[in-house]
Amino acid sequence: MLKEEPEYIALYRSGELARRARTLEARLRSCDICPRECGVNRLEDEMGFCHSGYLPVVAAVCAHHGEEPAISGDRGSGTIFLGNCNLRCAYCQNHQISQDHRAQSGNQIEHHALAGHMLYLQNELGCHNINFVSPSHFVPQLVKAVLEAVPLGLRVPLVYNTSGYDSIDTLKALDGIVSIYLADLRYASNRWGKKFSQVSDYVERARDAIEEMYRQVGNLVVDEGGVARRGLIVRHLILPNGLAGSRESLAWLADEVSPAVTVSIMAQYYPAHRAPQIPLLARRITTGEYEEVLGLLDELGMENGWVQEMDAPDTYLPDFAREGHPFEPAMNRRK
Ligand code: SF4
Repeated sequence: MLKEEPEYIALYRSGELARRARTLEARLRSCDICPRECGVNRLEDEMGFCHSGYLPVVAAVCAHHGEEPAISGDRGSGTIFLGNCNLRCAYCQNHQISQDHRAQSGNQIEHHALAGHMLYLQNELGCHNINFVSPSHFVPQLVKAVLEAVPLGLRVPLVYNTSGYDSIDTLKALDGIVSIYLADLRYASNRWGKKFSQVSDYVERARDAIEEMYRQVGNLVVDEGGVARRGLIVRHLILPNGLAGSRESLAWLADEVSPAVTVSIMAQYYPAHRAPQIPLLARRITTGEYEEVLGLLDELGMENGWVQEMDAPDTYLPDFAREGHPFEPAMNRRK
């Protein structure tokens, strides 16, 4: 039975959560919250690469049943989609909310309203956790809202669901606050990161970030119902034409982190957003590309995690303009 309180409760009681919230917010004065280190004053709503000012931007809130089984469980993951992003992926499935900052400016909310969303997901929808999607540019706002939500009864684990382009200092400030890291490992080549996500140092930054996450939370720990309580899950989206560098990325993960780390292999790639105009990205993955990655898992002795089925794109494509819920409540992963 693993139902002890998340560590952020103790951090709240000791005053450490309030101290972290203050320190993080102060960093918005010359923003270095993510590795871009834009240096803009977000306390005054100056905007850097992520086009995000002082207040959090929340694009959607829902119980998500299509995350990994240990994240969604049977009651869903309490997902909060943050607007805007510190990457610009040409193929982003969430481009409606990640890359249209003018539209997203209408989704700014106060911190207490964000705290209210967390409590709604926990208390009204009964979700297993609070799952912050694309949180990297809003960490100070999230911690400040958690600080407001804890005395109001927030008790479920927090999931940090990230592209992996995270600052180590910012991750250190989340030590003990986040219970579950759900991190992408997108590229093994900065050439492709630069070309398709407008980031020149993704490989080093994401690898350093994943090592720090693993140091904090270690391997996945689940409760008696198989629902995650703590740990790292690394997501690897297979891109067409070998652009994700699957062999190099997975070998790095097995060698430098652990072959026992939980991995989630995603086959849902679909040429969304600008991808149809980019020949290397303009198609779904082939069966051969898919099976090659499955073979790699065997070869590297990586046994923990999940692999999406090849028909995943149809069930995982979100539409943030859809009434009520961006996803169909479908699930199609195998252990
Ligand atoms: S969080 Fe935004 S403003 Fe701050 S460093 Fe990153 S991209 Fe720049």
